[in-house]
Amino acid sequence: MHAEMLILHFSRKVVDQPIIYRLVKDYDLEFNLLKAAINPLQEGVIVMELRGHPKNFRRGLKYLRDAGVEVKRVAREVTRNEELCYQCGTCTAVCPSGALSVKRPEMAVVFDATKCSACELCCPVCPARAMEVRLNRSAV
Ligand code: SF4
Ligand code: SF4
Repeated sequence: MHAEMLILHFSRKVVDQPIIYRLVKDYDLEFNLLKAAINPLQEGVIVMELRGHPKNFRRGLKYLRDAGVEVKRVAREVTRNEELCYQCGTCTAVCPSGALSVKRPEMAVVFDATKCSACELCCPVCPARAMEVRLNRSAV
């Protein structure tokens, strides 16, 4: 499962097309709408979290671009606050990418940021709130 926050700009040419509907129906993606607005020039902006299988996510982004939608990523980065983490291991049970794992025989909980998909599943389960989310804005 991959999830990202996106800012979509719809020009007048595409603002009345069922693009989000197609994104859900044809690419099996889920979205959480955070903000939607149409300005006086009839151009639209949507801020949403898009979630789904990584392959579907990539295909969905391509569909958006091909349809003429300008896409900006509000990339999230999950980090671990080493001062707060007390190595309880709870997060390793929910991490789908293997970014959090138990190193044996030391039984140390290791965080490999290069494997992290920023799905945030570890954040609410961590009793120490050691897994933190940061935003990084970058154009697609
Ligand atoms: S956000 Fe947390 S649960 Fe999700 S992949 Fe990264 S370390 Fe694993
Ligand atoms: S759940 Fe939190 S405190 Fe426990 S090992 Fe993971 S990051 Fe550390």
